Amino acid sequence: MQERLAFARAAYDAVALYDPKRTAVELDLTDNTNLWGIPPTAERTLREMPVAAVTRYPTLYAAELKAELALLHGVSADMIVTGCGSDDILDSAMRAFGEPGELVAGSEPSFAMIPIFAQMNALRWRGISERSTTAAQHTGHQPDIDALLATTPKILYLCSPNNPTGALIARASIERAIAHARGVVFIDEAYAEFAGVSSIDLVARSERVLIIRTMSKAYGLAGLRLGYAIGQPSLVMEVEKSRGPYKLNAMAERVALSALRYDSEWVAEHVALAVTLRERLAGALRAMGLAPMPSAANFVCVPVAQCVAVGQAMRTRGVAVRPFPALPHVGDALRISVGPWPLMERMLSALAPALREVNG
Ligand code: PMP
Repeated sequence: MQERLAFARAAYDAVALYDPKRTAVELDLTDNTNLWGIPPTAERTLREMPVAAVTRYPTLYAAELKAELALLHGVSADMIVTGCGSDDILDSAMRAFGEPGELVAGSEPSFAMIPIFAQMNALRWRGISERSTTAAQHTGHQPDIDALLATTPKILYLCSPNNPTGALIARASIERAIAHARGVVFIDEAYAEFAGVSSIDLVARSERVLIIRTMSKAYGLAGLRLGYAIGQPSLVMEVEKSRGPYKLNAMAERVALSALRYDSEWVAEHVALAVTLRERLAGALRAMGLAPMPSAANFVCVPVAQCVAVGQAMRTRGVAVRPFPALPHVGDALRISVGPWPLMERMLSALAPALREVNG
């Protein structure tokens, strides 16, 4: 192990550099981005970007983009904060609300970066296993709201639809979490477009709710890093202060504006397609004798024994999916991004022999 630098911050001793050691592969279905690509007007804006957009600084806080997002979601512009990906929003918001040593709590399994962002901000992380599926059969995989509330976290993180299970959190659970929380409630809606439901309306009722969204998934702009959050103006202002100026680069801002103004039809069409093909993929997996979990997102999580070895065997066949070993109440599973059907067929043709090779 490397010696600690005498002048390094102690809170970072336990922080490892995030590096999932991804290697290039012919078909990458690991990150739930938009496998159909970028919307057409957004692409034109990107190609025609004036050089001046790069030589000058971007706007301080992306006011024009906030106004457009406000229009989309039926809120006022001062209820929106943008960031360099929703990763940046989550990080800035943790820094805004958590004093060093305070607690961030969330359900497990969920978005793997949350404990890391907590650590990066010198906060404590507490993961609580979701309720067992047998107890929650009627609603699928659900967080244990009572157990989460009992930890009295400064920040309660909920993800709906959840990554990696794809489960939508029951509306009543979200409302209960908000009603009884003593701190801030983050609701990560990175995949909400594919679910067709959102908790954005709840921000009007509570000053402690922050809804986190991204343009990396349905909008196909992951490489430009565009995230945003919605909350009451006083809450959002704290995140904006913590985020700081010039965080959204000029190209991202312009391309996102185009996508929001002119590409809503393309986005809606491709969301609908992803939903249709998600169900078709689930059917194909069931036909192989597997039991995919119900998903409200643009990916499918399917229990598969020895998932790491199966994932590796698929990689040798040019296809990457994300293995999740030992998920609570599930065991080993693979998470597969949904995309155009020929890509799904290509994935299935790698999965079948990989399963035979590893699990017999
Ligand atoms: N939240 C969830 C649940 C995610 O799955 C991801 C990306 N995998 C993010 C946030 C971060 O996305 P981005 O920074 O690209 O907006």
